[in-house]
Amino acid sequence: MIQRTPARIEARNEEPSLIATEQGQRPHNSAKGWQQILAESVTCPEQLLGRLNLPAEPWLKGASAGHQLFPVRVPEPFIRRMTPGDPNDPLLRQVLPLAEESRHQAGYVRDPLQENNAIQTTGLIRKYQSRSLLMVTGQCAINCRYCFRRHFPYESQRLGPDDRQQVLATLKAAPEINEVIFSGGDPLAVNDRLLAQWAEALAGIPHIKRLRIHSRLPVVIPQRVCDALLDWLGNSPFQKILVVHVNHPAELDSDTRKAFARLREVGVTLLNQSVILKGVNDSASILARLSEDLFDSGVMPYYLHAFDPVAGAHHFDVSDQAAAALVRALMTRLPGFLVPRLVRELPGETSKTPIFTGDNQANISVT
Ligand SMILES: *Cc1c(COP(=O)(O)O)cnc(C)c1O
Ligand code: SF4
Repeated sequence: MIQRTPARIEARNEEPSLIATEQGQRPHNSAKGWQQILAESVTCPEQLLGRLNLPAEPWLKGASAGHQLFPVRVPEPFIRRMTPGDPNDPLLRQVLPLAEESRHQAGYVRDPLQENNAIQTTGLIRKYQSRSLLMVTGQCAINCRYCFRRHFPYESQRLGPDDRQQVLATLKAAPEINEVIFSGGDPLAVNDRLLAQWAEALAGIPHIKRLRIHSRLPVVIPQRVCDALLDWLGNSPFQKILVVHVNHPAELDSDTRKAFARLREVGVTLLNQSVILKGVNDSASILARLSEDLFDSGVMPYYLHAFDPVAGAHHFDVSDQAAAALVRALMTRLPGFLVPRLVRELPGETSKTPIFTGDNQANISVT
């Protein structure tokens, strides 16, 4: 069992937890705990290029400029799945800033989803009727260049001890909410005692049935699926859903497979969401392989997100028409249950908005 020491958790909040090591956190398959792996992440462009045997020329100048806008952060287990010497490696493309980031492009904005308008109380975002999203932390284990939250004012949304009571009171007063989503940032970047404490507090609200976690950590640091996480998740009375974030089949390996298996053993339903990204996964054969490999690992494809027009990431943009053609192609290659839903998040809408895939007249060839 995990020890629960509420007062200390509240006082510590998020940042120290990133480096704190806790007993019982050792994963079976590695000598290092996840917090140490996280603390040892690559956080500068020179180091990233060096690890991949890529020359400073022509990459470093653009990478350094992009790093000033949104810092580089990549954990070692994710780097190990990249191919050294390949500047177009689909995993590297997701984390290496390119010169294009610094170029202003009309129509690409800082807050494409206008999330600032949906904040209920500090840390709680509600856009849809039956579910609320709790921003447990602003911290991520990896900084994805295309992230629609790259400019989000996390500082103003950091949860403090007082906010917690306010969040719980707000949820208690909203009986139509039956699901709480731990989000961020990456909610699994904080320690398990804090998460267990949140889960326990939420379990006291009768109308909440499901606990969902949106996290990329089990993919980028599979050691995050440690005994302490499995312990509180397994003991929680909620129906549990973990939505991971995988964009390319090369992100999956034997470690992610093991981590997913352990989660399933404690009753967690695993779903995946991807973002369609030019130069990473804008290909029907890659997306088909992704769905197949996810299912082999016990994960169901859920959403394929259309690109959000966030400033600094325009070079990843795939048009809705091209994305729809890709999904049409997937439908001919895969059983229906392995085809992710192509959606976009539009400000002010009451759900994600499906992108129509019924018409394949568009003259777009897919590979
Ligand atoms: C995407 C999102 C959800 C989850 O939507 P589902 O369609 O249930 O997956 C919930 N709340 C917010 C604010 C979201 O952005
Ligand atoms: S893990 Fe998710 S929230 Fe964090 S930077 Fe990547 S896409 Fe954004």
